Amino acid sequence: MSDLDRQIRRARQQDGRVDIKALDLPALTHWMADLGKAEPRAREVYRQIWQRGVTDFSQIEKVTKTVLATLAERGVITVLENFATLPSDDGTTKFLWRLPDGGHIESVLIPDEDRTAGRTARYTLCVSSQVGCAMRCTFCLTGDMGLKRNLTAAEIACQVQQVQQHMDTDTPGKRITNVVMMGMGEPLHNFDNLVVSLRTILSQDALNLSHRRVTVSTVGLVPKLQELARLLPVNIAVSLNATTEAQRRTVMPITRRYSMQKLMDACRTLPLPSGKRIIFEYVMMAGFNDTNEDAARLHDLMQGVPAKVNLIPYNENPEREIRRPSDERVRTFQQYLVSRGIHCTVRITRGIDVSAACGQLGKSAESMARRIPQQAATTRSVGLSPRS
Ligand code: SAH
Repeated sequence: MSDLDRQIRRARQQDGRVDIKALDLPALTHWMADLGKAEPRAREVYRQIWQRGVTDFSQIEKVTKTVLATLAERGVITVLENFATLPSDDGTTKFLWRLPDGGHIESVLIPDEDRTAGRTARYTLCVSSQVGCAMRCTFCLTGDMGLKRNLTAAEIACQVQQVQQHMDTDTPGKRITNVVMMGMGEPLHNFDNLVVSLRTILSQDALNLSHRRVTVSTVGLVPKLQELARLLPVNIAVSLNATTEAQRRTVMPITRRYSMQKLMDACRTLPLPSGKRIIFEYVMMAGFNDTNEDAARLHDLMQGVPAKVNLIPYNENPEREIRRPSDERVRTFQQYLVSRGIHCTVRITRGIDVSAACGQLGKSAESMARRIPQQAATTRSVGLSPRS
C-alpha cells in the first residue's frame, strides 16, 4: 500500500466516508483520481476548504456539480465544535473544542504585542495533537488524563483554521503568525497525522504559514524526531527539564526508553536547515533542577548542539506540591548560561487565570469555568542573548 493510500485509509470514517481535511494535497489528488482533471480540481477543493473555509461541498466554486455530488457522497468536511472561548486578563485566549466522540481539546492563542516599538505583533497559537497524553511526565497535568486518543490530521489543522476565523471577526486583519505544537499531547506520538496536518499548515494552497514560524515540541521520541527533521524544515523544541539521566527519569518516564545521552546524540546530528537551532525547554522546579550545579550541567549538555534554551518557571497548581523557583533564582540560572555564550530566554507565564498556561491543559470545562475568576499572572519576558 502506498503512503497516499495509507493516508486515505486513516482518513476514512466508520461510515466509509473520507474526512478530506485529513488529507494533504497529494492524497486528495490521489483520492479524486477517477473523477478526471484530478490535479487542478483537487487543488481547487483544497484551497477552498482551507482558505475560503468552505464547510459544505455545494459551496465549492469552479468545480462541476456532478463532481461535487460524488465528493459529497464519498467525503466529509470536518468542522470542530467550539464550545467555549475563554479570554484571559492578559490577552491570551483559550479555545475549547468538543470532538464528535465526546472528548475535548484546547488551543491557546497568545498575542505578543509591541515588545519592540514598530515590530509587527506576533500571534502564536498553541495547538493540541492528542486527547490527553501517554507520556506521564510527573509534573504535567495533561499526563494525569492518560492518552484518550490521537487527533486526526483534520482536527490538528482545524484548530489553526478556526482560531484564524475567530480572529477574522474579532480582530479583523490580524493573522496567526506562529504555530507551536505545545498543547495537549505528544505530537511525535501521533506522527503520521502530525505530518499531514503540518503539510496543510505550511502549504501555500492551505494555511500558508512559514516553516520558520512553526514549532514541534517533543519529550524526545528519538527515531521520530530524526524522521521529522528529515521530512520537514519546521523548528524543533525538546522538553529537557533535567540535567542528569537519574533526575530526568524521575520526572519523564520516556527517559527509560530513550536515554538523555541518546537524545542529545540525536540532537547533535539532526539534519537542521542552516541557521536553525533546537530549542531546549527546561521547566524549572524549585529544589529539583534549579541549582547552580544544574546550570553548569545544562551548559555542558549544550556543547556541540545548535541550541537555544527556554526556561519555563513551573506553573504551580493545586494538584502538585511542586514550587516555582523565585524570579531571582531563575535570573541567576539564566545569567549563568548567557554569560557562557548560551542563548537563553525565560518564558513569560500567560493565561494562568484560564488554565491555559504550560502544563495546565486538559482539565474539564467545568473545572475551568470555576477557575476563571482567579487573578491573572503576567510577568514580562527577560530575554537576554549572549553579550547583551
Ligand atoms: N509533549 C510535548 C508537547 C507539550 S509542550 C512536550 O512535552 O514537549 C508542553 C510544555 O510544557 C513541555 O515543555 C512541558 O515540559 C511543559 N510543562 C508541563 N507542565 C508544566 C508546568 N506545570 N509548568 C510549566 N511548564 C510545564
